[in-house]
Amino acid sequence: MSNHLLFENIDEPGLNTLDVYRARGGYAMAEQALAMARDSIITALKDSGLRGRGGAGFPTGLKASFIPQGKMDKYLVCNADESEPGTFKDRELIQKNPHSLIEGMIIAAYAVGANKSFIFIRGEYQQQAEILEAAIAEAKEAGLLGPNVLGRGVELDMWVHRGAGAYICGEETGLLDALEGRRGNPRLKPPFPANQGLYQGPTLLNNVETLTAITYILKVGAEAYSAMGVEKSSGTKLISVSGNVKRPGNYEIELGMTGRDIIYGLAGGIEDDREVLLWFPGGSSSPVLTKDDLDTPYDYDSLAGAGTMLGSGAIIVADDRNSVVDIAVKTASFYKHESCGKCTPCREGTSWTTKLLKRIQSGEATPMDLDVIDSVCDQIQGNCLCVLGDAMAMPVSSMVRKFRPQFEAHIESARIANEQRLLAELDEQEPVLQGIGAL
Ligand code: SF4
Repeated sequence: MSNHLLFENIDEPGLNTLDVYRARGGYAMAEQALAMARDSIITALKDSGLRGRGGAGFPTGLKASFIPQGKMDKYLVCNADESEPGTFKDRELIQKNPHSLIEGMIIAAYAVGANKSFIFIRGEYQQQAEILEAAIAEAKEAGLLGPNVLGRGVELDMWVHRGAGAYICGEETGLLDALEGRRGNPRLKPPFPANQGLYQGPTLLNNVETLTAITYILKVGAEAYSAMGVEKSSGTKLISVSGNVKRPGNYEIELGMTGRDIIYGLAGGIEDDREVLLWFPGGSSSPVLTKDDLDTPYDYDSLAGAGTMLGSGAIIVADDRNSVVDIAVKTASFYKHESCGKCTPCREGTSWTTKLLKRIQSGEATPMDLDVIDSVCDQIQGNCLCVLGDAMAMPVSSMVRKFRPQFEAHIESARIANEQRLLAELDEQEPVLQGIGAL
């Protein structure tokens, strides 16, 4: 079912300003949190069952508990590099309700003892970066950020850092490198950011939606939050629905709704009442599902059981007028372009897969090339430094496996079309050739 927590009041005019946000009860949870013991906030996060909303789905409270205690410099970093194709929910949150993110960050920073925080936002989100900067300035002016947050002797500063438009900077260690002013290359893990993150210090790194949800968990209580959704997938989730649906957009749902209820209910069904060909349930890096999977509950474990993942919560729907070959080419080309090139399986694998798919698209392939793609994708998965290699291999191999007859039919029809084109070209040249023979 649809339920509003993070999107409560989201369309209220002026909600991005401090006055309106405070008039709706804003920053009351930060005040409450700063009067609590740090441990009890982390316990509340654990009890709520909140899992990271950026893609990995790691339990948020557990992640926060990994930050070591002690007086060393600690950092909080918000990942606002929302680059996964099909995902645009964080953009709406930031644009319409930036103070709820700032409030969540105040609570999270206090819980782990961080006094410096950064919001790394994708370069394309210029307008959203400006909105955030204005909101941070308002919060500083009001004493909600700075050397003495809410008069409770807690220090927290906050900066917005704009990325330069690389997908890989959404990967947490690539993001940290970029934030430090280096080329955004993923780091070898371990060490994990909780121990050695930004400037080698302990760093809590969470996504926009995750940090914003913290405010609402304190508001409704961990128990009430964990009662929403289903076991191991508690709470609400913002999802972005796009593609061939009648009402594309962002929706807040309780986890556990079916894909059919989302696509045919919230998003109004398929344009021109066509059939679903395939849908990506968790952004373009998730293995695809078909119309036979529409009744799969939309939660972490059910989607994993269906061989895919919830990922960033971006559902992309393609109807039966689309060519699965074209979708596979677009998907592979995107990840090939975004590969940072640091490790061989991803750098070479994404490139070869794209070449093979383009060969299929242009009618120069044989069905054996499908086996080669499957084999290349197999060798990428689990053998890369970060998840980008898998992000291409998983959806592409799922398309090749689930739609093999369509790929084979395309190979055959494109081959025949090529032959006919060549014969037609020869026919056109025939008089010229005869003329040459007569000389
Ligand atoms: Fe770079 Fe790809 Fe390796 Fe990630 S998997 S480190 S993007 S080459």
